[in-house]
Amino acid sequence: MSGIYIHVPFCKSKCAYCNFFSLVTEKKVDDYVEALKKEIVDRRSYLGDELVETIYFGGGTPSLLPTKYVEEILELLHKNYNIISTPEITLEINPDTIDKEKMFALKQLGVNRMSIGIQSFHDDDLRYLGRRHDSRHAMQVLEDLKAVDFEKITLDLIYGMPTLTEEKWNKNLDIFFSTGITHLSAYALTVEPKTILGQKIEKGELQGVSEEETILHYDVLVERTKANGFEHYEISNFAKDGCRSQHNSIYWKDVKYLGLGPSAHSYDGNSRQWNVSNLTKYIQLVGNSEEYYEKEILTLDDKFNEYVMTSLRTSWGCDIEKIERDYGRSYASHFLKNVKKYLEMGEMLKDINTYKLTDEGMLFADGIAAELFV
Ligand code: SF4
Repeated sequence: MSGIYIHVPFCKSKCAYCNFFSLVTEKKVDDYVEALKKEIVDRRSYLGDELVETIYFGGGTPSLLPTKYVEEILELLHKNYNIISTPEITLEINPDTIDKEKMFALKQLGVNRMSIGIQSFHDDDLRYLGRRHDSRHAMQVLEDLKAVDFEKITLDLIYGMPTLTEEKWNKNLDIFFSTGITHLSAYALTVEPKTILGQKIEKGELQGVSEEETILHYDVLVERTKANGFEHYEISNFAKDGCRSQHNSIYWKDVKYLGLGPSAHSYDGNSRQWNVSNLTKYIQLVGNSEEYYEKEILTLDDKFNEYVMTSLRTSWGCDIEKIERDYGRSYASHFLKNVKKYLEMGEMLKDINTYKLTDEGMLFADGIAAELFV
């Protein structure tokens, strides 16, 4: 089992909180696609004999990519990789970059999962986040998706911004539940210093994020998703039965994946590599068959730390038998010794052979994982 991620690095404008690699230009789309197609062919042996079960177009704004290019990319992937007959194919969309016709066309090409960056249904929140769309666009895209009848849809919401009151957050969740969509990714707003938002907060032009408010929103989120029959299967992800993101689960299950396009990351079980985060360089280096990525060989310590960090984020947790089997007894002893404190504090729980974060513990996942590292 394996997955393929394709990074589409174009956006119509830069959202204030955005820390992803994306450019506000569509000038180089043709050159990007040429380079991407070459990379697809050049790296066809990366996944070995693994079956590819998921393909994910992320970004950036993949819905900006002309449909003919999505078609060509999918065709080339099918020609060069061992893709199962019914892969999960996800494409991220932003509400102001897609219409019903394009949705139909993408569905015809085999895209069967749409991931929509709504973030909020309130205009003042969207302005704070620097999003291009407004609440009218957000509602329209939901209508269109319903009409096109996609097999799977997931929606992104953000909480924690100072414009979002508890009442407005509840309203966002009310709208989400009313759509019948079966997957939600809800992220606490994090402010990175180099982003537009980070700089505006630094200059005192915008109010920053309150940890107390964020925790309040998180508590509401956990309670209401549970009450509505969603499984909290990863810190920021909630799904109805059978509707987890198969692609993202790959990242949390120590499964191989290939990342294509500028800034994309790949993992083959023994090493990680990441492509250059510069579109011009990516196009040039790929075109000239020069090295366009950096690579890190993982030590046993790295692999153990990675396993703890990713599995702790999920509802299936850390398996102590796997730790002993794959990394050795000393790693298992280290884990068991350090986990005690969190069990006593109620931030983790033991379920037969696995150790999981409680809802409260999920708030401190990164800190707890770091304490469990070797
Ligand atoms: S649409 Fe996504 S990738 Fe593009 S600027 Fe906004 S957050 Fe960043």
